[in-house]
Amino acid sequence: MTRAVRDPSEIARYDEEVDVLVVGLGAAGAAAALEAARAGAETLVLERASGGGGTSAMSGGVLYLGGGTALQKACGFDDSPEAMHDYLLASCGDAPDAEKIRLYCEGSVEHYDWIAAQGVPFKPVFYDGCSGEPPTDDGLVWSGSERAHPFVEVAPPAPRGHVPRMEHQTGPLLMQTLCAAVEASPARIAANHRCVALVQAPDGAVQGAVAESFGEERRIRARRGVILTTGGFINDDALIEAHQPLVRRCKIRVGAEGDDGSGIRLGMAAGAATMHMDAASISLPATQPWGLKRGLLVNAQGQRFINEDAYYGRLGEWALFHHGGRAWLVVDDAIFEKPDYPRDVSAVGETPAELERELGLPAGSLEATIALYNRHAERGEDPLFHKASHYVQPLVTPPFGAFDCTTGSSIYAAFTLGGLATDTDGRVLDVLGAPIPGLFGAGRATSGLSVGGYSSGLSLGDGTFFGRRAGRCAAGS
Ligand SMILES: Cc1cc2nc3c(=O)[nH]c(=O)nc-3n(C[C@H](O)[C@H](O)[C@H](O)COP(=O)(O)OP(=O)(O)OC[C@H]3O[C@@H](n4cnc5c(N)ncnc54)[C@H](O)[C@@H]3O)c2cc1C
Repeated sequence: MTRAVRDPSEIARYDEEVDVLVVGLGAAGAAAALEAARAGAETLVLERASGGGGTSAMSGGVLYLGGGTALQKACGFDDSPEAMHDYLLASCGDAPDAEKIRLYCEGSVEHYDWIAAQGVPFKPVFYDGCSGEPPTDDGLVWSGSERAHPFVEVAPPAPRGHVPRMEHQTGPLLMQTLCAAVEASPARIAANHRCVALVQAPDGAVQGAVAESFGEERRIRARRGVILTTGGFINDDALIEAHQPLVRRCKIRVGAEGDDGSGIRLGMAAGAATMHMDAASISLPATQPWGLKRGLLVNAQGQRFINEDAYYGRLGEWALFHHGGRAWLVVDDAIFEKPDYPRDVSAVGETPAELERELGLPAGSLEATIALYNRHAERGEDPLFHKASHYVQPLVTPPFGAFDCTTGSSIYAAFTLGGLATDTDGRVLDVLGAPIPGLFGAGRATSGLSVGGYSSGLSLGDGTFFGRRAGRCAAGS
């Protein structure tokens, strides 16, 4: 059995010595390697796959940035670090890391410039009408719940989804560019190298790592630090079962093969604490096109549970974690639109009562929900959930229908948000809150900015931002 921690006395000879060893070449690893190398550290990146990219290369490529970036300005939007900060602090879950959010918002304009300086292109055109990556190559979108209750009352909204210039999913372009930048830097990449153990001295200092490559063990000494950027754990059934069993119901677990929690386990074996292992991004794209936000999302009791104009990452989290993934989007003929994402129609009825029967909901439940909603909607109001008035319209035109938003048949796309506990410089913390000497982390191997209420772009955003900080800090160790 491979042991996840080795004592230096067990290593007779190192195959290689570097200053900084980065484990995993996704977005966070690329950012860490670039900054470590530029700070003058001899840097090696281990990647278990045959090339870099990871989940980052499969992603939408949206980066959540703001505070007045050059792209926001070019698209005619005002934003401030304060507004971004207040939104993130309010929306990123029950107990987000306030210090990380503060630094992220203060550094966001510079971070956009840095991403662009690596060669990632952005078209200075705003695309309205979609959540997350647009169908065009436009550069700026809404990618959160900034204009929805309760956040619109907390901070002036601004679109902050920064999208590399490519149609649809732009993760491939982002990662081609970042990997090319790493290749052009003094950092070296060792592909087909899976890190299987950390080398840790009895005093707790991490001094290197052991990797497997084509059946051979390779031992690498890291004079200044090891940075774990191995991604999340959506493909680790045991960790999912232990920390977020409801996620097993999701149809789509979004993540490359490498998202098996290996880096998190390596860190834990070295004494690291973890945080927010129960937090996940759950996308339920039920209200795309946006006209469908005029519908009512109801649970198995026929009751609404959220303002339907919230971002689809928030809808999914609420539907799965609070309602067991049993939800339906109710529409009438007047607001019916073909959903952008294929979706079954669970039931149709000439009246709310008939629709309720067809859905098998408790007698009177959906009927009462629609009647109450309509009573206030006649005045364009939604006193229960405060949906924006332009999405509030009485549902009175038969036939009535319900789109299936249950986990059994609908897209619920999940990835994990929790991981190793780190400070703002990417130092991995032990269970007493002290940094483990020589051990760093970033990206989804660590607990990020969002620990709930996800806005798209925060994962690539915080991974690259705190990956850079970890790279610089490790290089300076
Ligand atoms: C379809 C989809 C769309 C998404 N859209 C967005 C979006 O638009 N914006 C956003 O912010 N997020 C998005 N996400 C989430 C986001 O892609 C991930 O959370 C993010 O890419 C994680 O980055 P990372 O660098 O931490 O990990 P990864 O990109 O997964 O990189 C980790 C790397 O480490 C390697 N690795 C793992 N274990 C080891 C080991 N033991 N030894 C060596 N190497 C190892 C892996 O092979 C991998 O290359 C999306 C995800 C998916 C799948």
